[in-house]
Amino acid sequence: MKRALISVSDKQNITEFAKGLEELGYEIISTGGTLKVIQDAGVKAIAIDDVTGFPEIMDGRVKTLHPKVHGGLLAKRSNSDHMKQMVENEIQPIDMVVVNLYPFKQTLEKEGVSKPEIIENIDIGGPTMLRSAAKNFEDVAVVVDPKDYDGILEALQKDELDFEKRQQLAAKVFRHTAQYDAMIAEYFMEETKEEFPESYTVTYERVQSLRYGENPHQHAAFYKRPIVQTMSLAAAKQLHGKELSYNNIQDANAALEILADYEGHAAAVAVKHMNPCGIGVSDTLVDAFSRAFDADPISIFGGIVALNKEVDSPTAEKLSSIFLEIVIAPSFSEKALEILTRKKNIRLLELDMNNKEAVNHKLTSVNGGVLIQSQDNGKVGTDDLKVVTKRQPSEKELADLLFAWKAVKHVKSNAIVLAKDGQTIGVGAGQMNRVGAAKIAMEQAGEKAKGSVMSSDAFFPMPDTVEETVKAGVTAIIQPGGSKRDQDSIDVCDENGIAMVYTGMRHFKH
Ligand code: 5GP
Repeated sequence: MKRALISVSDKQNITEFAKGLEELGYEIISTGGTLKVIQDAGVKAIAIDDVTGFPEIMDGRVKTLHPKVHGGLLAKRSNSDHMKQMVENEIQPIDMVVVNLYPFKQTLEKEGVSKPEIIENIDIGGPTMLRSAAKNFEDVAVVVDPKDYDGILEALQKDELDFEKRQQLAAKVFRHTAQYDAMIAEYFMEETKEEFPESYTVTYERVQSLRYGENPHQHAAFYKRPIVQTMSLAAAKQLHGKELSYNNIQDANAALEILADYEGHAAAVAVKHMNPCGIGVSDTLVDAFSRAFDADPISIFGGIVALNKEVDSPTAEKLSSIFLEIVIAPSFSEKALEILTRKKNIRLLELDMNNKEAVNHKLTSVNGGVLIQSQDNGKVGTDDLKVVTKRQPSEKELADLLFAWKAVKHVKSNAIVLAKDGQTIGVGAGQMNRVGAAKIAMEQAGEKAKGSVMSSDAFFPMPDTVEETVKAGVTAIIQPGGSKRDQDSIDVCDENGIAMVYTGMRHFKH
């Protein structure tokens, strides 16, 4: 007679499955809570204690950790020594394990959960059984996912739970236990505050398969951390439009990261190919968006717009006047939704933007490995600035400088941003020399450059960028400082009555 051991925390559909196994002639062994549930449903089952001859002890910490269980799971049926030892030790084979684990993740997510409760929800016996059965998949079937119950019964009925299927089930188990342990490891790492230990374990869950990657010939999928703590697109609700693409997700994420630096005002960010093409802040959302739009009315076409306030109808009207790939906001008024959904192709996403505290690590893949760094959360305020020129910036210039500094942090290096009145007016991104980035920014700003401020993501190795932008009408400059030739740039400023401030912080972004 075949034997199945069932021990599950998530008891959905377990009685149906147990009944199915019973009908197929399985003898069922089960642990405390599971036994009760399936017996109550009229399934004949025996208690684990009757197999082990040992009671469940220590509040369930030790239930199935016993040679009668693990011998029955691990014995290789084709190995005569194993079979002999089974007989000698009165161990009976177990042919199937149905286990799902203590809900560690759900416990972590519970509000006000205590540390002892978290620790208690680390399953020990469950993963051990899963791993024993998965290791011995040649002889044992292992079931970790309630979604597989029906398929398994069907396969058993047709006598098709063959080597290949059992190996697939085993692979699923090892992914599952690895992920389970990774979550536990991460929890401990947070407790012990180890940031970059000798090995780094992260785990992701698939959110969706994507049609393709950055280009149509590349394959891709979107994965999320099991416990999403930051303002993540994985938590966004799509209200309208086609499925998100790989590039959509990257760009929308970039837009969200920029937006997070403009708290306190109504803010709008337009992104194209990972760079902001327009950022606007104001008292009203419609005005903020108008500024982001006017910053570069050409590049925004087909762009991604993120907004930090509920989208109202005036903003919706303005948004719908151009072709946008995505609009993402904390919410949309009913009227705004009606206006925007008239467009078939626009993707509308709703996302709670309050939760952005947690430290996020940035992973960059390199051949054969990854680079990991903490997110660039560097912020500077008025008190951090050092004025290095004869002239001090005015109040208005100071506000524009801080605005421009936040923007340049999010532009690919080498980056130069020109800004005025809560609006970017020129963005020079991703150039191999700084003066090249400045030229792009100035060309885009045109006449608007007069009376604007300039930010640079890193210091000026030479005075050329300052010379050029001052000629275009920039009146104040913000940069990290720290070049050997800083004085040359300061001299150019002083000769032209320009104010320059140092942040002491660099914002390379590659
Ligand atoms: P039940 O509700 O049947 O009492 O418990 C089921 C849960 O116990 C399952 O999630 C299973 O993984 C877990 N489990 C089974 N055996 C052991 C054990 O020996 N120790 C611990 N800590 N958990 C176990």
